[in-house]
This record gives sequence, structure tokens and C-alpha cells, in this order.
Amino acid sequence: MNHAAAPARIAVVGGGFTGLTAAYELAKAGHRIEVFEAAPTLGGLVAGFELDDGFPLERAYHFLYTTDHWMTDMAEELGIRDKLSFHPSSIKAFHQGRRYGFTTPLELLRFTPLSLVDRIRTGLTGLRTLSLRNWHPLTKVTAYEWLCRVNGKRATDIVWKPLLVGKFDIYWDRITMAWLWTRIHVRQTSKIDGEQTERLGYFTGGFRVMVDRWVEELERRGAVLRTSTPITAFHQLEGKPALVVDGEVRRFDAVLGAIPSNALARAASQHPAMTPEYAKQLNDIDYLGAALMIVTTSHPITDTYWHQIHDLDAPFLVFLSLDSLIGAENTGGRYIYYIGDYVPNDHELMTMDEDALRERWFAGLAELIPEFSPDLVVESHVFRFRNAQHIVDVTYESRIPAMRTPLPGYFLANFSQVFPEDRGTNYAVRDGLQVAGLIAAALAADPSRVVAEPPATQPVPLPASTVESSSA
Ligand SMILES: Cc1cc2nc3c(=O)[nH]c(=O)nc-3n(C[C@H](O)[C@H](O)[C@H](O)COP(=O)(O)OP(=O)(O)OC[C@H]3O[C@@H](n4cnc5c(N)ncnc54)[C@H](O)[C@@H]3O)c2cc1C
Repeated sequence: MNHAAAPARIAVVGGGFTGLTAAYELAKAGHRIEVFEAAPTLGGLVAGFELDDGFPLERAYHFLYTTDHWMTDMAEELGIRDKLSFHPSSIKAFHQGRRYGFTTPLELLRFTPLSLVDRIRTGLTGLRTLSLRNWHPLTKVTAYEWLCRVNGKRATDIVWKPLLVGKFDIYWDRITMAWLWTRIHVRQTSKIDGEQTERLGYFTGGFRVMVDRWVEELERRGAVLRTSTPITAFHQLEGKPALVVDGEVRRFDAVLGAIPSNALARAASQHPAMTPEYAKQLNDIDYLGAALMIVTTSHPITDTYWHQIHDLDAPFLVFLSLDSLIGAENTGGRYIYYIGDYVPNDHELMTMDEDALRERWFAGLAELIPEFSPDLVVESHVFRFRNAQHIVDVTYESRIPAMRTPLPGYFLANFSQVFPEDRGTNYAVRDGLQVAGLIAAALAADPSRVVAEPPATQPVPLPASTVESSSA
């Protein structure tokens, strides 16, 4: 008789990069994995779509830094490292109708919206931030406060405030300087030795090549991947985690919620171990949504990748040109742009009629880039994401939820646990690996899993109380 633990049955709820990494790692360890993803496609915020002619793209713009080694290592392991290239980036700053080079220190010195003294001080602020080795004391001070002190209010209001507002909208003045510290460090070090400008990475075929490889590897190991399957009720049955799937309660040895923290609070609201304190901790994490439009044009309208907009009244705060980063030879001669804005989940941009959004943003783009005219547009696509960015204020560090939840057998991994770094695919992979390790260790330490026979895999009948709560 076999007394070793049988492979565990593990549900991964959420098929973004965190969930897929954890699923892959646990499948490699021999466990039986089911992934449940609410959306019709896997990939989460990195999910792809196709232009009208089939060219693959991300719905939200994505690139990597040269320092994103969890992503590059995963690409290596999946055999797609050769598809990842790092291209020199370029930045232009826009202020009150004029554009300025912003890529090199020399260009920053020519940024005339600032006085010469403020330009020098801004350069020195960057150097001072880079020289700080320990970000921890910065967690309790807001970026705005720190910058006003070190860089002066005038320069902060022109250079830094629009960047904070662009990323954090109404929360801009609460963001911790520790977040900005990591951002400046990563951008300064995303270079190839000896080069002045940063390099950013993109996969030939887009980020979906990674999702495709995970899917292949998971299916090869017998994992079941279910899209269009939102899980709305996290329960407990005979001391084990249990999910309601297609109206049936299914018992698992472990469940990973690779979903936003507020989604876990909602799904587990009827779980017997859910406490008001834990629900509050999860619900107190604020998120912004993101509205994105992908536009292609018949002619190029810029040769710059990143357009940094320093006007707070601009109709959007993200404008970038993919072909300017990776070269039009890699986009099949297509000129591809992303326009976007981070806004509260209930902001009008999140629900506004698509044509009205087009009209507003095309007018804004024509003002920003006179080379643009709506007549040049070949096609455009609108995507909106709820819970796209968490708000890392000065109290955030003490509020981060643990990966091991108080609900027995349930684990949580999502980008709200990323701090002080800016959330990104690199940390999704890092945290997916970490939570997979935690789950494997917890299962190995569970005495109830040393069994003579593999546990039953059939759906289990529901106790009446669970049936009632599953409809909540
Ligand atoms: C506009 C934008 C630009 C970005 N740019 C970059 C970039 O350039 N580089 C970079 O590295 N990163 C970038 N990121 C960040 C990156 O996309 C995220 O950090 C990463 O994708 C997070 O992965 P995740 O799996 O933790 O979360 P998510 O991708 O949010 O995945 C969570 C998944 O859970 C699913 N889900 C939720 N509730 C349920 C439920 N009840 N049942 C089943 N499924 C559920 C969701 O549908 C989703 O697929 C960007 C993000 C945005 C929004």
C-alpha cells in the first residue's frame, strides 16, 4: 500500500501571470491543477487581442526592463528567450503645446519650462535618489512632499506631479516616495553596460507567446484550464477548501486566489473563517481602473516611444508608439499607438460609449501631435480594466495581505502584495513562484494528506447551509 502523499488537487483561481506561473510551478511538481479564469482569454492584464488582419498585440501596453530577471529567467525556461529583444527607448516631454527631448541628461538640461537652476536641481534630485541605498525610511513620506523639499515646489509641479497624477489620478498626493524610489532605480538601471539610454524588452509575437507556452506546458502535464469560468464562492467542506463550479461544490487540497484582494473578499464573504477584520484588510486596498485605446495609422505620426505629458488638463496621460520602440519592421509596417489613462473604477471613462471616447481622445491626440489626424486612423480598439493599479500610500506597507490567508487551505497572490516596486509581470512571476513554494510546503506538512489511496475527485454533495451561501 502506498503511504506517500498523492498529488494534491489544487485550484488556481485567476489566469493572469501570477496564477499561470504558480499553476505551472505546481504542475511541474506533479500536482493536479485546475485553473479557473473569469475572462474568455488567459493572461489577465496582459491578455492579447488581434488587429483586424490578425496581428497579435496586448490590450494594455507591456514592456520589460533589462533588470526584470524573473521574467527573463521564465522566458529562458519556457524556451522563448530568443523571442525577447531589448530595444533603445526614447522619451519626449510635452508641456503647454511644446515638445522636448527627455531621454538623456543633456536633453533634460535643455528642458526650458524649468529655469536653469531648477533643471540642475532636478538632475541632482535624480542622482540623490539613485544614491540612496535604503528605501525603507521613504515609505512613510509622500513622493510629493519629499520632492518639494529636495527638488523645489516649482520643478516638482512641472516635472513630477503630472507623472504622479498620470499613474495615480485622485490618489497622486498620497503615494509613498518608496514607490518612486524603486521606479527611478529601475529606469536608471534598465540599460546595457556603457549605454546612456534605457532599453525596454518586447517579445516577437507579443507577450502572448509566454501565455501560449504556459498553456502548452500545463496541458502536457494534465492541467485543466477553464476560461469564462468566474468563481464567486470560496467555501470549506470537511476542513478543506471548496469552490462552487458550475453549481457544484468541488473540494480541493489547496486553492490559490490569484485575483485582486477585493475579489477574494467578495468570493469568501460566506466562508466560516472570514472575519470582518480580514475582509476590511482586503477591501481597504484601493485600486484604479485603466482605459486604453489602441490605434493604428496609415502613416507614422511620431518617432518616439514614450510621450510624457506634463499638462494636468490633458485628456489622457499615456501615449506611446510601439513601432517606435521595436521598429516598424517588427510590426509588419504597422504604426501602432496606445492611448490611455488610469482612473477610478467608477470613472466615466470606464463605461463611456466607445465612439465618444474615440472623439475625445482623437481630438486630444491631434492637439498633442499635430501630425495626427483622425483621417489617418486605420483601426482602433478600446479596452477597459478594473483593478489595474493598487494605491501605495504611506500606510501601505503595514496593510499588505499575506499570501497565506486565514481561510484554511486558501492562498492569495496578486499585485497588491508588490511593494515598493511598481507592479509588473516580473513581480507576478516572482510572486507566482513564491506562492507555489508556500503551497507545496503547506501540503507537504499536512498530515491528513499521507493517504493510502488518492482522494476522491468526484464532486461532493453540498451540505444545505453551503448551498444557501453559495448563491450569495
Ligand atoms: C495599462 C497597464 C500597463 C501595464 N504595463 C506593464 C508593463 O509595461 N510591464 C509589466 O511588466 N507590467 C505591466 N503592467 C502590469 C502587469 O500587467 C501586472 O502586474 C500583471 O499582469 C499582474 O498579473 P496578475 O496575475 O497578478 O493579475 P491580473 O492580470 O489582474 O490577473 C488576475 C486574473 O484573475 C481573474 N479573476 C478575477 N476574479 C476572478 C474570479 N472570481 N474567478 C476567476 N477569475 C477571476 C481576472 O479576470 C484576471 O485574469 C501593466 C498593467 C496595466 C493595467
